[in-house]
Amino acid sequence: MCDTCGCGDLAVRTIDVNERLLASNAAVAEHNRAHLDERKVFAINLMGTPGAGKTALLEATIAQWRGFRRITVIEGDQATDRDSARIRAAGATARQVETGLGCHLDAHQIHDALHHFDLRDGDLLFIENVGNLVCPALFDLGERLRVVVTSPTEGADKPLKYPPMFRAAHVVVLNKCDLIPHVPFKLDEWTEYIRAINPRARVIKMSAPNGEGVGQWLGEIDNVRQSFLAGISA
Ligand code: MG
Repeated sequence: MCDTCGCGDLAVRTIDVNERLLASNAAVAEHNRAHLDERKVFAINLMGTPGAGKTALLEATIAQWRGFRRITVIEGDQATDRDSARIRAAGATARQVETGLGCHLDAHQIHDALHHFDLRDGDLLFIENVGNLVCPALFDLGERLRVVVTSPTEGADKPLKYPPMFRAAHVVVLNKCDLIPHVPFKLDEWTEYIRAINPRARVIKMSAPNGEGVGQWLGEIDNVRQSFLAGISA
């Protein structure tokens, strides 16, 4: 049947469309990166499952840095502006991108959103991606740091089940650590899986609402941002 039905051609066309889509995204991502570098804006792509605590992590970050750092946030969700409202209530500038059926943010959406901000030298830009451990790993947005936020309620085996996401991360945050005694989560197994998938990832254990690990998180962001600023000034 496959000799006559044309499914081979269909597969080739699908691959071609996907490659062009990713190539177009990569070109716009490089444009975004150049635009942000020119303004010395350090951009962080925050990824992870829905409910891992990405927005809570941003609220804790904004609370600690209010008055010291200018923070801008692009929020991605399929629907509602609830998270951008939370970010504005916390004290930072935010813009919501509603993706409809889309399961991730892409570089074109970030490019469009950047036109709505008055970014200045030294600003921090956080991009909270759509909650999803699959598609966001494939789409470069023009960021300088990729962070995956995960939590004990998701189970210890997610690094093994979703390796591209964890492999793509510079930093892996295990959020909601206060829940570890109450859920069937084996921290040593999770740590072993992270190390197997991505030995270079920096791991931060924290609980954003009660403040545990927030200092280490802020220090990590500050260190990488300082290296970024030194690199683009060199
Ligand atoms: Mg959120």
